[in-house]
Amino acid sequence: LYPDDPTPIPRRAPTELLERSTFDLFSLKGKICVVTGAARAKGIGYAAAEAYCEAGAKGLAIWDYNDPSEAAETLSRKYGTDVRAYRVDVSKNESVKAAVDKVLKDFGTIDVFVANAGVVWETGTILNMETDDDVNWHHLMDVDLNGVYYCAKHVGRVFKEHKTGSLVITASMSGLIVNFPNLQTPYNVAKAACINMAKSLAVEFAPFNARVNCVCPGYMDTGLSDFLPQKTLNTWAQLIPAGRQGLNKELAGAYLYLATDAASYTTGAALVVDGGYTCP
Ligand code: NAD
Repeated sequence: LYPDDPTPIPRRAPTELLERSTFDLFSLKGKICVVTGAARAKGIGYAAAEAYCEAGAKGLAIWDYNDPSEAAETLSRKYGTDVRAYRVDVSKNESVKAAVDKVLKDFGTIDVFVANAGVVWETGTILNMETDDDVNWHHLMDVDLNGVYYCAKHVGRVFKEHKTGSLVITASMSGLIVNFPNLQTPYNVAKAACINMAKSLAVEFAPFNARVNCVCPGYMDTGLSDFLPQKTLNTWAQLIPAGRQGLNKELAGAYLYLATDAASYTTGAALVVDGGYTCP
């Protein structure tokens, strides 16, 4: 089935995990983590990065298009973790490759990689898109889809060499459903592709003991929706069974679970954290 698979089937189960407490399986002690798009304290990436510091990560690299130095300094001061900031454009293959090389030089390895950087752009319907809007379609695909591809490709090679690793992709509930009444077709298309990328890569990476999963957040209050009219926010709240948007902190546990040995048998999953939005 897998002609390139160098490992024998059945593979050895990690029975050493049985000796550890469940609490300890959630530890990142000694691990090196990378989180992209974590410059803003209210953002999703920042919540993941903070959880990794709290779980004992030895080193953390924050990548962002905007200067992430402040986020790195805050986390470093608060937790004593070696947190470093990197200016990276994930939509550029060369930028991603150079950043992976730099992290390897700085920290020696990468155990956990969170591909979280993304842009949100509401287009309405495809039929309303004029030629000028095509640029925005391509920009969104460059960051939200191609950016994940570049990250997965370069970090996957590190995982393959080191025979371990966890890649967590920030997809969205929008990859599973169609947001209504505010249509955002390009975004939904990119996030749906990310969910299948996680499943495809889960199969591709499994022979070298690396896992790939998605988190699919619902409407989160990360500050990006602040500009929207209150009427729109109220409509969203009505459509969410929990009756409100989520806080970034309410995603931290999902990112921690998927990063750690607690999820050693979880790969190709799309973990939905959406206050029930996708249920009805
Ligand atoms: P955010 O703005 O805090 O995070 C996005 C980060 O990505 C920003 O810091 C931005 O500078 C960075 N970024 C943008 N383009 C980049 C590029 N080319 N290279 C490197 N970094 C780049 O917003 P957020 O809400 O925390 O979003 C984080 C992720 O979560 C995104 O992928 C978003 O699509 C996804 N998401 C958000 C929500 C929500 O409701 N906020 C819901 C589901 C999924």
